[in-house]
Amino acid sequence: MATEMSFIPRIKCPHCGNDLEFFEISEDAVIVTHYVQNPDGSFSVEDTSIQSAGGSRLFCGSCEEELRELHGRFSNMIF
Ligand SMILES: [Zn+2]
Repeated sequence: MATEMSFIPRIKCPHCGNDLEFFEISEDAVIVTHYVQNPDGSFSVEDTSIQSAGGSRLFCGSCEEELRELHGRFSNMIF
């Protein structure tokens, strides 16, 4: 029986211990909205995407400290 488990530890705020809620601020974000024109001339939103020209920064959702050192790992864990 394997005693070794390979799992990825959860990201945890080193300041307050929060491991549930986080938020990310994207700088210089550009919001692109795609529309389709309907037969009656009105428009419907088809898709909205946000492109960040600058960097983005991760913050703890509880104490709002910036988690600079955890951001790389965070980015790889968004599915
Ligand atoms: Zn925190």
